[in-house]
Amino acid sequence: MNPIALIGAGPSGLAGARALSRAGIPFHGFEAGPDVGGLWNIDNPRSTMYESAHLISSRTTTEFAEFPMRSTADYPGHRELLEYFRDYADKFGLREHFRFETRVTSVEPVDGDTSGGSGWRVTASGPDGERITGEYSGVVLANGTLAEPNVPIFRGEFAGEIMHTSAYKRAKVFDGRRVLIIGAGNSGCDIAVDAVHHAASVDMSVRRGYHFVPRYLFGRPSDTLNQGRPLPAPIKQFIDSRVLRAFTGDPVRFGFPKPDYKIYESHPIVNTLILNHLGQGDLRIVPDIDRFDGHAVHFADGSSGEYDLIVLATGYHLDYPFVDRAHLNWSAASPKLYLNMFPPSFNGLFVLGMIEASGIGWQGRAEQADLIAAYLAAERRAPDAASAFRARAHATWPDLSGGYRYLGLERMSYYVNKDAYRRTVKKLHGTLPAASAGVSTGSTAGGSTVGGSTGSTGSTGEEARA
Ligand SMILES: Cc1cc2nc3c(=O)[nH]c(=O)nc-3n(C[C@H](O)[C@H](O)[C@H](O)COP(=O)(O)OP(=O)(O)OC[C@H]3O[C@@H](n4cnc5c(N)ncnc54)[C@H](O)[C@@H]3O)c2cc1C
Repeated sequence: MNPIALIGAGPSGLAGARALSRAGIPFHGFEAGPDVGGLWNIDNPRSTMYESAHLISSRTTTEFAEFPMRSTADYPGHRELLEYFRDYADKFGLREHFRFETRVTSVEPVDGDTSGGSGWRVTASGPDGERITGEYSGVVLANGTLAEPNVPIFRGEFAGEIMHTSAYKRAKVFDGRRVLIIGAGNSGCDIAVDAVHHAASVDMSVRRGYHFVPRYLFGRPSDTLNQGRPLPAPIKQFIDSRVLRAFTGDPVRFGFPKPDYKIYESHPIVNTLILNHLGQGDLRIVPDIDRFDGHAVHFADGSSGEYDLIVLATGYHLDYPFVDRAHLNWSAASPKLYLNMFPPSFNGLFVLGMIEASGIGWQGRAEQADLIAAYLAAERRAPDAASAFRARAHATWPDLSGGYRYLGLERMSYYVNKDAYRRTVKKLHGTLPAASAGVSTGSTAGGSTVGGSTGSTGSTGEEARA
């Protein structure tokens, strides 16, 4: 069998490399950036990280269980996290499996066999633009979910500067400017807090209300409370909304609309500094956008303001630009995959990291990687178990919502409840034989391989979409 191709060396890709190595499945890794760490490497051209960013989930609920962070910080910053991923890669010898500065530009079924039975041809563009192709028995896609900006269209023309949060790096960009932030997700709120120290004024335009969770509750990182003993959704919503109201007060007092949904039905905002700044009068909440007109922005309630810089905190689209959407069973905003990982046709493509959840951390991604590796190992060494696994996927899919009624928004289309998800992944992992290293893990992509046909054609590489 040809090796597996693994795309991306971010937290998910590293977890994938670790799981495949451990299971003894030969694979070749491709990473567009210069090193491991994914978006936590602010110098990776595809990174959407900014200088002030820290974890919003706490260290112990986020780290890989087998590799605790050395940090004592509850919410380490991105530079410390990059070091963590570098250490993780070194500890488990993962770097040597990857070809860096090598961007995958296409993943196509060999001989047009869409069942995947003939394998997949992966084409990539190397550091000097050289074209690299290879045939693989399967492809694990771990190219991230937060890189392709969602840029809404507004009526009118804005005469100032517009930037998406994906392009934001440091607060100096706000110096002396009248800033409008559109959207109040976690990045939007972080960036608003940066802006108040630099900008001439800061407004934040929101369409709906939000639930705010403080980083600390009862003196402990809030996401470490009630771990491992998940309460039924209605009880957790009842208790937490009251506890949070007691700690953070009512965001409506600070100008936010009242949320038209219950807590945990959308991703909560882990930032109460924004409420402090609202309380200090450092920024204002303004309504939804109606239209732009020169430097003026008109809002839905008829009011308006003048701005120099607009920051679109409007989120991201899922994007797997190198593979035809049909192969990933796309429907509307996202691929519809068994456990958010397996196309229902089991065509040899596997998506790793396509989960959005409150507090699932990198350990949740590592558990995904372990399941994919266990399935691949079963395909090779225990075909009956692999076949039984596939049969389960052809029956009713498990409910991964944990009983929460998620909002019907694009970014919630691949959202899961971390407890329901991890429990299900663990259970299904238990149906497969333990995957353990039995064979060599093969060589670096582009080198000579056992069974693989990877090689550089030497022609100029196709320019990949950034
Ligand atoms: C500001 C910010 C704060 C966050 N805070 C938290 C938090 O507190 N807790 C948490 O759990 N998560 C947080 N996240 C979410 C974050 O996405 C995950 O922590 C994690 O980075 C996901 O890892 P990943 O490997 O799936 O994706 P990424 O980190 O995006 O890595 C994907 C990798 O794939 C590579 N790649 C992409 N396309 C190609 C291609 N065509 N060919 C080759 N390589 C390619 C990229 O270069 C990149 O290295 C945060 C995200 C942001 C932006």
